[in-house]
Amino acid sequence: MSSDYLFLKTGRGSDEDREIEDLTPERLKAVVVLFARNATEISQKFVAHQGRSEVTPRDLVASLKLQVFDFLGTENLLTKVKDIERELSTQEPIEVAFIENTRKKTTTEFPCHCLFCARFREVGLLWNNWHPKTSFEKLLRSNIERLLKHPSVTSSPH
Ligand SMILES: [Zn+2]
Repeated sequence: MSSDYLFLKTGRGSDEDREIEDLTPERLKAVVVLFARNATEISQKFVAHQGRSEVTPRDLVASLKLQVFDFLGTENLLTKVKDIERELSTQEPIEVAFIENTRKKTTTEFPCHCLFCARFREVGLLWNNWHPKTSFEKLLRSNIERLLKHPSVTSSPH
């Protein structure tokens, strides 16, 4: 299993290698939390660009899809994962609630046309052409596909 998580390797030497070998459920959980936090930040940025104040379920799904392609490029990935791991070990379990905190908006306009927003809007195309290779990618894909079938997403306007 650990070979699928080589993306956590930063290539700084044998200590890092050993940490990957010792990939624990706690570290995996931290990876998922970081993934979700990144996606949340992206959706908030997109909504701000679009002049809206609320993140819709559709915004979140799009940001989760984008994060699939961008996550490995996260700056200081392993350091951030470790920070979250520490944070999780000293705190009560954190609920990562996406859908519940969002409300539907009926607007389908996209006032902002910057590169960031263009990519956000076209992520569906990227997604459809994406063929997951590792089991981590397959896990991401199946989970996001499942999220797409969530009523609060499917009932949103297109
Ligand atoms: Zn923009």
